[in-house]
Amino acid sequence: MTDMNKASKARTALVIGGGIAGPVTAMALRKAGIEATVYEAYPSPTEGVGGTLTLAPNGQGALELLGLKQEVTQIGLPIVGTALSFGSKNITIPQLDGVAPPLQVDRNDLHRVLHQAATAQGIRIEHRKRLIGAEQDRTGVTAHFADGSTARADLLIGADGVHSTVRTLIDPDAPGPQYTGVLGFEASVDHPVPGPAGITHFAFGRRAYYLYWREADGRTRIGFNLPHDTPIRLSQARTIPAAQWLQVLRDTYGQDNPGGALVRAIDPEQLQVNGSVWIMPSVPRWHSGRMVLAGDAVHAPSNSSGQGASLAAESAIELARALRDLPLEQALPAYEQARRPRVEHIAAQARKVNRVKAPGPVAAAVMPVMMRVLVKVAMNPERNFGPTWRHHIDWDQPVAPTAASR
Ligand SMILES: Cc1cc2nc3c(=O)[nH]c(=O)nc-3n(C[C@H](O)[C@H](O)[C@H](O)COP(=O)(O)OP(=O)(O)OC[C@H]3O[C@@H](n4cnc5c(N)ncnc54)[C@H](O)[C@@H]3O)c2cc1C
Repeated sequence: MTDMNKASKARTALVIGGGIAGPVTAMALRKAGIEATVYEAYPSPTEGVGGTLTLAPNGQGALELLGLKQEVTQIGLPIVGTALSFGSKNITIPQLDGVAPPLQVDRNDLHRVLHQAATAQGIRIEHRKRLIGAEQDRTGVTAHFADGSTARADLLIGADGVHSTVRTLIDPDAPGPQYTGVLGFEASVDHPVPGPAGITHFAFGRRAYYLYWREADGRTRIGFNLPHDTPIRLSQARTIPAAQWLQVLRDTYGQDNPGGALVRAIDPEQLQVNGSVWIMPSVPRWHSGRMVLAGDAVHAPSNSSGQGASLAAESAIELARALRDLPLEQALPAYEQARRPRVEHIAAQARKVNRVKAPGPVAAAVMPVMMRVLVKVAMNPERNFGPTWRHHIDWDQPVAPTAASR
Protein backbone atom coordinates (compact mmCIF):
# COMPACT_ATOMS: atom_id res chain seq x y z
CA MET A 1 0.00 0.00 0.00
CA THR A 2 2.49 2.56 -1.17
CA ASP A 3 0.26 5.62 -1.41
CA MET A 4 -1.36 5.41 2.02
CA ASN A 5 -1.73 8.85 3.57
CA LYS A 6 1.28 8.92 5.87
CA ALA A 7 -0.02 11.85 7.90
CA SER A 8 -3.23 10.12 9.00
CA LYS A 9 -3.76 8.50 12.35
CA ALA A 10 -6.13 5.55 12.63
CA ARG A 11 -9.50 6.51 14.06
CA THR A 12 -11.36 3.21 13.66
CA ALA A 13 -10.31 -0.44 13.90
CA LEU A 14 -11.66 -3.94 13.23
CA VAL A 15 -10.33 -6.36 15.85
CA ILE A 16 -10.49 -9.96 14.65
CA GLY A 17 -10.77 -12.44 17.54
CA GLY A 18 -12.66 -12.17 20.80
CA GLY A 19 -10.34 -14.25 23.00
CA ILE A 20 -8.01 -12.39 25.34
CA ALA A 21 -6.00 -10.13 23.03
CA GLY A 22 -9.14 -8.99 21.14
CA PRO A 23 -11.22 -7.39 23.92
CA VAL A 24 -8.08 -6.05 25.65
CA THR A 25 -6.89 -4.44 22.41
CA ALA A 26 -10.31 -2.91 21.81
CA MET A 27 -10.34 -1.44 25.34
CA ALA A 28 -6.79 -0.10 24.98
CA LEU A 29 -7.71 1.47 21.62
CA ARG A 30 -10.71 3.12 23.19
CA LYS A 31 -8.45 4.59 25.88
CA ALA A 32 -6.32 5.93 23.03
CA GLY A 33 -9.36 7.53 21.37
CA ILE A 34 -9.76 4.91 18.62
CA GLU A 35 -13.12 3.26 18.05
CA ALA A 36 -12.92 -0.54 17.70
CA THR A 37 -15.35 -3.36 17.03
CA VAL A 38 -14.47 -6.97 17.85
CA TYR A 39 -15.39 -9.85 15.50
CA GLU A 40 -15.35 -13.36 16.97
CA ALA A 41 -15.87 -16.59 15.02
CA TYR A 42 -17.59 -18.50 17.84
CA PRO A 43 -21.18 -17.92 18.91
CA SER A 44 -20.36 -17.00 22.55
CA PRO A 45 -17.44 -15.62 24.59
CA THR A 46 -16.58 -18.87 26.33
CA GLU A 47 -17.36 -21.37 23.58
CA GLY A 48 -14.68 -24.06 23.47
CA VAL A 49 -12.38 -22.44 26.02
CA GLY A 50 -11.45 -23.94 29.32
CA GLY A 51 -8.62 -24.65 31.64
CA THR A 52 -6.50 -22.43 33.80
CA LEU A 53 -3.91 -19.86 32.86
CA THR A 54 -1.50 -17.82 34.89
CA LEU A 55 -1.71 -14.04 34.86
CA ALA A 56 1.78 -12.88 35.73
CA PRO A 57 2.40 -9.55 37.52
CA ASN A 58 3.25 -7.87 34.21
CA GLY A 59 -0.06 -9.01 32.68
CA GLN A 60 -1.96 -7.86 35.76
CA GLY A 61 -0.21 -4.47 35.45
CA ALA A 62 -1.29 -4.18 31.80
CA LEU A 63 -4.91 -4.95 32.69
CA GLU A 64 -4.73 -2.53 35.62
CA LEU A 65 -4.00 0.26 33.11
CA LEU A 66 -7.45 -0.50 31.68
CA GLY A 67 -9.07 -0.25 35.12
CA LEU A 68 -9.53 -4.02 35.50
CA LYS A 69 -7.48 -4.67 38.64
CA GLN A 70 -10.43 -5.46 40.88
CA GLU A 71 -12.21 -7.67 38.33
CA VAL A 72 -9.06 -9.72 37.74
CA THR A 73 -8.18 -10.01 41.44
CA GLN A 74 -11.67 -11.31 42.16
CA ILE A 75 -11.37 -14.25 39.76
CA GLY A 76 -7.73 -15.16 40.53
CA LEU A 77 -6.13 -17.48 43.05
CA PRO A 78 -2.75 -15.99 44.10
CA ILE A 79 0.19 -18.33 43.62
CA VAL A 80 1.69 -17.88 47.05
CA GLY A 81 4.53 -20.33 46.51
CA THR A 82 6.01 -22.67 43.94
CA ALA A 83 7.93 -25.93 44.12
CA LEU A 84 9.67 -28.22 41.66
CA SER A 85 8.85 -31.87 42.35
CA PHE A 86 10.95 -34.80 41.18
CA GLY A 87 9.36 -38.01 42.40
CA SER A 88 8.79 -37.46 46.12
CA LYS A 89 11.48 -34.76 46.33
CA ASN A 90 10.14 -31.19 46.50
CA ILE A 91 12.35 -28.16 46.01
CA THR A 92 10.78 -24.88 47.10
CA ILE A 93 11.48 -22.05 44.68
CA PRO A 94 12.16 -18.66 46.25
CA GLN A 95 9.54 -16.02 45.47
CA LEU A 96 10.30 -12.76 43.73
CA ASP A 97 10.09 -9.81 46.15
CA GLY A 98 8.21 -6.60 45.54
CA VAL A 99 5.73 -7.79 42.90
CA ALA A 100 2.14 -9.02 43.13
CA PRO A 101 1.92 -12.83 43.11
CA PRO A 102 0.91 -14.40 39.79
CA LEU A 103 -2.76 -15.40 39.66
CA GLN A 104 -4.26 -18.71 38.57
CA VAL A 105 -7.28 -17.71 36.50
CA ASP A 106 -9.96 -19.85 34.94
CA ARG A 107 -9.91 -19.04 31.23
CA ASN A 108 -13.73 -18.96 31.06
CA ASP A 109 -13.80 -16.43 33.90
CA LEU A 110 -11.18 -14.24 32.24
CA HIS A 111 -13.09 -14.27 28.94
CA ARG A 112 -16.29 -13.36 30.77
CA VAL A 113 -14.67 -10.50 32.69
CA LEU A 114 -13.01 -9.06 29.59
CA HIS A 115 -16.17 -9.30 27.52
CA GLN A 116 -18.27 -7.69 30.24
CA ALA A 117 -15.76 -4.86 30.71
CA ALA A 118 -15.49 -4.21 26.97
CA THR A 119 -19.26 -4.25 26.50
CA ALA A 120 -19.74 -1.94 29.51
CA GLN A 121 -17.39 0.54 27.80
CA GLY A 122 -19.64 0.52 24.75
CA ILE A 123 -17.41 -1.71 22.61
CA ARG A 124 -19.37 -3.88 20.20
CA ILE A 125 -18.44 -7.58 20.11
CA GLU A 126 -20.01 -9.42 17.20
CA HIS A 127 -20.14 -13.22 17.37
CA ARG A 128 -20.42 -15.76 14.53
CA LYS A 129 -18.14 -13.55 12.44
CA ARG A 130 -15.34 -15.69 11.02
CA LEU A 131 -12.90 -13.61 8.98
CA ILE A 132 -12.07 -15.23 5.65
CA GLY A 133 -10.40 -12.40 3.74
CA ALA A 134 -9.51 -8.72 3.69
CA GLU A 135 -8.49 -6.10 1.17
CA GLN A 136 -6.96 -2.70 1.77
CA ASP A 137 -6.67 0.50 -0.24
CA ARG A 138 -5.64 4.09 0.27
CA THR A 139 -8.58 4.97 2.53
CA GLY A 140 -9.24 1.84 4.56
CA VAL A 141 -9.40 -1.93 4.95
CA THR A 142 -12.43 -4.14 4.33
CA ALA A 143 -12.92 -7.43 6.19
CA HIS A 144 -14.91 -10.27 4.64
CA PHE A 145 -16.66 -12.76 6.89
CA ALA A 146 -17.83 -16.32 6.25
CA ASP A 147 -21.50 -15.26 6.55
CA GLY A 148 -21.08 -12.98 3.52
CA SER A 149 -21.01 -9.74 5.51
CA THR A 150 -18.24 -7.13 5.41
CA ALA A 151 -16.90 -4.40 7.70
CA ARG A 152 -14.60 -1.46 7.00
CA ALA A 153 -12.27 0.69 9.12
CA ASP A 154 -8.89 2.45 9.05
CA LEU A 155 -7.07 -0.56 10.49
CA LEU A 156 -7.54 -4.33 10.93
CA ILE A 157 -5.95 -6.07 13.93
CA GLY A 158 -5.45 -9.82 13.90
CA ALA A 159 -6.03 -11.00 17.49
CA ASP A 160 -7.16 -14.33 16.09
CA GLY A 161 -4.90 -16.68 18.00
CA VAL A 162 -2.19 -19.13 17.16
CA HIS A 163 -3.92 -20.38 13.98
CA SER A 164 -4.38 -16.79 12.77
CA THR A 165 -5.99 -16.07 9.41
CA VAL A 166 -4.81 -12.45 9.48
CA ARG A 167 -1.17 -13.63 9.72
CA THR A 168 -1.45 -15.26 6.30
CA LEU A 169 -3.31 -12.27 4.87
CA ILE A 170 -0.37 -10.11 5.93
CA ASP A 171 2.16 -12.61 4.60
CA PRO A 172 1.09 -15.73 2.68
CA ASP A 173 4.50 -17.25 3.51
CA ALA A 174 4.20 -16.61 7.26
CA PRO A 175 5.23 -19.55 9.41
CA GLY A 176 2.49 -21.52 11.14
CA PRO A 177 2.47 -22.63 14.76
CA GLN A 178 4.76 -25.42 15.96
CA TYR A 179 3.45 -28.32 17.97
CA THR A 180 5.27 -28.69 21.32
CA GLY A 181 4.75 -32.46 21.46
CA VAL A 182 2.26 -32.39 24.32
CA LEU A 183 -1.52 -32.39 24.77
CA GLY A 184 -3.09 -30.45 27.63
CA PHE A 185 -5.63 -31.89 30.11
CA GLU A 186 -6.95 -30.57 33.39
CA ALA A 187 -9.24 -31.60 36.24
CA SER A 188 -10.29 -30.62 39.73
CA VAL A 189 -10.35 -33.52 42.19
CA ASP A 190 -11.64 -34.15 45.66
CA HIS A 191 -8.25 -35.32 46.90
CA PRO A 192 -6.56 -32.67 49.07
CA VAL A 193 -2.82 -32.12 48.93
CA PRO A 194 -1.01 -30.74 51.99
CA GLY A 195 -0.24 -27.05 52.39
CA PRO A 196 -2.09 -23.79 51.78
CA ALA A 197 -4.14 -22.98 48.68
CA GLY A 198 -2.18 -21.62 45.72
CA ILE A 199 1.18 -23.36 46.28
CA THR A 200 1.87 -24.62 42.77
CA HIS A 201 3.93 -27.76 42.18
CA PHE A 202 5.65 -28.25 38.82
CA ALA A 203 6.10 -32.01 38.86
CA PHE A 204 8.42 -34.07 36.67
CA GLY A 205 6.89 -37.53 36.80
CA ARG A 206 8.49 -40.78 35.68
CA ARG A 207 7.10 -40.49 32.19
CA ALA A 208 5.72 -36.99 31.85
CA TYR A 209 5.24 -33.54 33.33
CA TYR A 210 2.24 -32.39 35.34
CA LEU A 211 1.39 -29.58 37.75
CA TYR A 212 -1.00 -29.28 40.65
CA TRP A 213 -2.16 -26.91 43.37
CA ARG A 214 -4.65 -26.79 46.20
CA GLU A 215 -7.68 -24.66 45.35
CA ALA A 216 -9.41 -22.22 47.72
CA ASP A 217 -12.16 -24.79 48.44
CA GLY A 218 -9.64 -27.48 49.45
CA ARG A 219 -9.91 -29.49 46.23
CA THR A 220 -6.82 -30.06 44.10
CA ARG A 221 -6.44 -28.90 40.51
CA ILE A 222 -4.13 -30.92 38.30
CA GLY A 223 -2.91 -30.18 34.80
CA PHE A 224 -1.15 -32.65 32.51
CA ASN A 225 1.20 -32.15 29.58
CA LEU A 226 0.83 -35.56 27.96
CA PRO A 227 3.54 -36.36 25.40
CA HIS A 228 1.91 -37.28 22.10
CA ASP A 229 3.69 -37.75 18.75
CA THR A 230 1.27 -35.81 16.59
CA PRO A 231 -1.01 -32.85 17.23
CA ILE A 232 -4.75 -33.43 17.40
CA ARG A 233 -7.33 -30.78 16.63
CA LEU A 234 -9.28 -29.82 19.77
CA SER A 235 -12.60 -30.80 18.17
CA GLN A 236 -11.15 -34.21 17.31
CA ALA A 237 -9.58 -34.69 20.76
CA ARG A 238 -12.98 -34.00 22.31
CA THR A 239 -14.68 -36.69 20.24
CA ILE A 240 -12.53 -39.30 22.00
CA PRO A 241 -14.40 -40.43 25.15
CA ALA A 242 -13.02 -38.88 28.35
CA ALA A 243 -12.75 -42.35 29.93
CA GLN A 244 -10.34 -43.35 27.13
CA TRP A 245 -8.15 -40.28 27.69
CA LEU A 246 -8.28 -40.89 31.42
CA GLN A 247 -6.95 -44.41 30.90
CA VAL A 248 -3.99 -43.00 28.94
CA LEU A 249 -3.36 -40.48 31.73
CA ARG A 250 -3.55 -43.22 34.36
CA ASP A 251 -1.08 -45.36 32.40
CA THR A 252 1.29 -42.41 32.11
CA TYR A 253 1.05 -40.88 35.60
CA GLY A 254 -0.18 -43.82 37.69
CA GLN A 255 3.24 -44.47 39.28
CA ASP A 256 3.85 -40.85 40.28
CA ASN A 257 3.48 -39.33 43.71
CA PRO A 258 1.04 -37.62 44.18
CA GLY A 259 0.18 -37.76 40.46
CA GLY A 260 -1.00 -41.38 40.66
CA ALA A 261 -3.47 -40.75 43.49
CA LEU A 262 -4.68 -37.54 41.81
CA VAL A 263 -5.22 -39.11 38.39
CA ARG A 264 -7.11 -42.01 39.97
CA ALA A 265 -9.41 -39.51 41.73
CA ILE A 266 -10.53 -37.89 38.45
CA ASP A 267 -14.13 -38.32 37.46
CA PRO A 268 -14.20 -38.73 33.63
CA GLU A 269 -17.07 -36.21 33.49
CA GLN A 270 -14.75 -33.60 35.00
CA LEU A 271 -11.78 -34.14 32.68
CA GLN A 272 -11.12 -30.98 30.65
CA VAL A 273 -9.48 -31.73 27.30
CA ASN A 274 -7.47 -28.63 26.25
CA GLY A 275 -5.91 -30.07 23.09
CA SER A 276 -2.49 -29.67 21.48
CA VAL A 277 -0.11 -27.10 22.90
CA TRP A 278 1.36 -24.81 20.23
CA ILE A 279 4.02 -22.14 20.09
CA MET A 280 4.76 -19.56 17.43
CA PRO A 281 8.22 -19.33 15.88
CA SER A 282 9.49 -15.84 15.09
CA VAL A 283 7.06 -14.14 12.67
CA PRO A 284 8.95 -12.13 10.01
CA ARG A 285 6.11 -9.69 9.22
CA TRP A 286 4.01 -8.28 12.06
CA HIS A 287 2.15 -5.79 9.89
CA SER A 288 1.46 -4.79 6.33
CA GLY A 289 -0.24 -1.57 5.29
CA ARG A 290 -3.38 -1.36 7.39
CA MET A 291 -3.17 -4.81 8.98
CA VAL A 292 -1.28 -5.78 12.14
CA LEU A 293 -1.07 -8.73 14.55
CA ALA A 294 -1.45 -8.94 18.34
CA GLY A 295 -1.43 -11.71 20.97
CA ASP A 296 -0.89 -15.38 20.14
CA ALA A 297 -1.28 -14.61 16.41
CA VAL A 298 2.21 -13.11 16.45
CA HIS A 299 3.85 -14.28 19.68
CA ALA A 300 2.62 -17.43 21.38
CA PRO A 301 5.30 -18.48 23.85
CA SER A 302 4.89 -21.98 25.22
CA ASN A 303 2.60 -22.52 28.20
CA SER A 304 5.83 -23.19 30.17
CA SER A 305 6.39 -19.44 30.25
CA GLY A 306 3.02 -18.68 31.88
CA GLN A 307 3.16 -15.53 29.74
CA GLY A 308 0.80 -15.98 26.75
CA ALA A 309 -2.09 -13.97 28.13
CA SER A 310 0.16 -11.48 29.91
CA LEU A 311 2.18 -10.69 26.78
CA ALA A 312 -1.05 -10.44 24.79
CA ALA A 313 -2.31 -7.78 27.23
CA GLU A 314 1.01 -5.90 27.12
CA SER A 315 1.06 -5.89 23.31
CA ALA A 316 -2.52 -4.62 23.17
CA ILE A 317 -1.55 -1.61 25.30
CA GLU A 318 1.64 -0.91 23.35
CA LEU A 319 -0.18 -1.09 20.03
CA ALA A 320 -2.78 1.38 21.29
CA ARG A 321 -0.08 3.77 22.59
CA ALA A 322 1.68 3.77 19.24
CA LEU A 323 -1.57 4.36 17.34
CA ARG A 324 -2.48 7.16 19.77
CA ASP A 325 0.73 9.08 19.06
CA LEU A 326 1.75 8.29 15.49
CA PRO A 327 0.29 8.09 12.00
CA LEU A 328 -0.46 4.55 10.92
CA GLU A 329 2.64 4.03 8.81
CA GLN A 330 4.89 4.99 11.73
CA ALA A 331 2.79 3.48 14.50
CA LEU A 332 3.00 -0.13 13.33
CA PRO A 333 6.83 -0.26 13.01
CA ALA A 334 7.13 1.52 16.40
CA TYR A 335 4.84 -1.11 17.96
CA GLU A 336 6.88 -3.96 16.47
CA GLN A 337 10.14 -2.39 17.58
CA ALA A 338 8.84 -2.01 21.14
CA ARG A 339 7.56 -5.57 21.38
CA ARG A 340 9.59 -7.96 19.24
CA PRO A 341 12.80 -8.20 21.35
CA ARG A 342 10.88 -8.79 24.57
CA VAL A 343 8.43 -11.41 23.31
CA GLU A 344 11.08 -13.32 21.37
CA HIS A 345 13.41 -13.39 24.38
CA ILE A 346 10.65 -14.79 26.62
CA ALA A 347 9.70 -17.37 23.96
CA ALA A 348 13.34 -18.53 23.72
CA GLN A 349 13.55 -18.98 27.51
CA ALA A 350 10.35 -21.05 27.53
CA ARG A 351 11.57 -23.29 24.70
CA LYS A 352 14.38 -24.52 26.95
CA VAL A 353 11.86 -25.62 29.60
CA ASN A 354 9.83 -27.42 26.94
CA ARG A 355 12.75 -29.70 26.20
CA VAL A 356 12.53 -31.00 29.74
CA LYS A 357 8.75 -31.41 29.62
CA ALA A 358 8.60 -33.37 26.37
CA PRO A 359 12.07 -34.83 25.97
CA GLY A 360 13.08 -36.58 22.76
CA PRO A 361 15.47 -39.59 22.98
CA VAL A 362 18.59 -37.39 23.01
CA ALA A 363 17.22 -35.00 25.61
CA ALA A 364 16.05 -37.91 27.77
CA ALA A 365 19.61 -39.21 27.93
CA VAL A 366 20.85 -35.93 29.38
CA MET A 367 17.80 -35.41 31.58
CA PRO A 368 19.63 -35.42 34.94
CA VAL A 369 21.89 -32.62 33.69
CA MET A 370 18.88 -30.68 32.35
CA MET A 371 17.11 -31.06 35.68
CA ARG A 372 20.10 -29.63 37.52
CA VAL A 373 20.10 -26.69 35.14
CA LEU A 374 16.37 -26.19 35.70
CA VAL A 375 16.79 -26.16 39.48
CA LYS A 376 19.70 -23.73 39.22
CA VAL A 377 17.65 -21.38 37.05
CA ALA A 378 14.60 -21.63 39.32
CA MET A 379 16.70 -20.80 42.37
CA ASN A 380 17.51 -17.40 40.90
CA PRO A 381 14.03 -15.85 40.45
CA GLU A 382 15.34 -12.33 40.01
CA ARG A 383 17.39 -13.35 37.00
CA ASN A 384 14.81 -15.78 35.68
CA PHE A 385 11.56 -13.85 36.19
CA GLY A 386 12.60 -10.33 37.28
CA PRO A 387 12.82 -8.61 33.87
CA THR A 388 9.64 -10.34 32.68
CA TRP A 389 7.48 -9.79 35.74
CA ARG A 390 8.69 -6.29 36.65
CA HIS A 391 8.02 -4.90 33.17
CA HIS A 392 5.97 -1.72 33.46
CA ILE A 393 4.24 0.18 30.66
CA ASP A 394 4.22 3.95 31.00
CA TRP A 395 0.93 4.81 29.28
CA ASP A 396 1.56 8.57 29.34
CA GLN A 397 5.04 8.40 27.79
CA PRO A 398 4.83 9.58 24.14
CA VAL A 399 5.85 6.99 21.50
CA ALA A 400 8.57 8.04 19.06
CA PRO A 401 8.74 6.76 15.46
CA THR A 402 11.48 4.26 14.55
CA ALA A 403 14.53 5.69 12.81
CA ALA A 404 13.60 3.87 9.57
CA SER A 405 10.03 5.18 9.44
CA ARG A 406 10.79 8.87 10.19
C1 LIG B 1 -2.88 -25.62 27.64
C2 LIG B 1 -2.55 -24.16 27.64
C3 LIG B 1 -2.09 -23.57 28.81
C4 LIG B 1 -1.79 -22.21 28.83
N1 LIG B 1 -1.32 -21.65 29.98
C5 LIG B 1 -1.08 -20.32 30.02
C6 LIG B 1 -0.63 -19.68 31.21
O1 LIG B 1 -0.45 -20.31 32.24
N2 LIG B 1 -0.45 -18.33 31.19
C7 LIG B 1 -0.66 -17.59 30.06
O2 LIG B 1 -0.50 -16.37 30.12
N3 LIG B 1 -1.05 -18.17 28.92
C8 LIG B 1 -1.26 -19.50 28.87
N4 LIG B 1 -1.68 -20.09 27.73
C9 LIG B 1 -1.77 -19.25 26.54
C10 LIG B 1 -2.97 -18.34 26.54
O3 LIG B 1 -4.16 -19.06 26.63
C11 LIG B 1 -2.91 -17.56 25.24
O4 LIG B 1 -1.66 -16.94 25.15
C12 LIG B 1 -3.99 -16.52 25.16
O5 LIG B 1 -5.24 -17.15 25.15
C13 LIG B 1 -3.79 -15.67 23.91
O6 LIG B 1 -4.88 -14.89 23.68
P1 LIG B 1 -5.29 -14.51 22.19
O7 LIG B 1 -6.49 -13.66 22.35
O8 LIG B 1 -4.12 -13.99 21.45
O9 LIG B 1 -5.68 -15.88 21.50
P2 LIG B 1 -6.93 -16.81 21.78
O10 LIG B 1 -7.25 -16.83 23.23
O11 LIG B 1 -6.65 -18.09 21.10
O12 LIG B 1 -8.13 -16.06 21.04
C14 LIG B 1 -8.22 -16.00 19.63
C15 LIG B 1 -9.68 -15.82 19.28
O13 LIG B 1 -9.79 -15.57 17.89
C16 LIG B 1 -10.90 -16.29 17.39
N5 LIG B 1 -10.67 -16.51 15.95
C17 LIG B 1 -9.75 -17.32 15.37
N6 LIG B 1 -9.82 -17.24 14.03
C18 LIG B 1 -10.79 -16.33 13.76
C19 LIG B 1 -11.32 -15.80 12.55
N7 LIG B 1 -10.85 -16.18 11.34
N8 LIG B 1 -12.31 -14.88 12.61
C20 LIG B 1 -12.80 -14.46 13.82
N9 LIG B 1 -12.34 -14.94 15.01
C21 LIG B 1 -11.35 -15.86 14.97
C22 LIG B 1 -10.90 -17.57 18.19
O14 LIG B 1 -12.16 -18.21 18.18
C23 LIG B 1 -10.52 -17.06 19.58
O15 LIG B 1 -11.64 -16.68 20.35
C24 LIG B 1 -1.94 -21.44 27.66
C25 LIG B 1 -2.44 -22.03 26.49
C26 LIG B 1 -2.72 -23.38 26.46
C27 LIG B 1 -3.23 -23.98 25.17
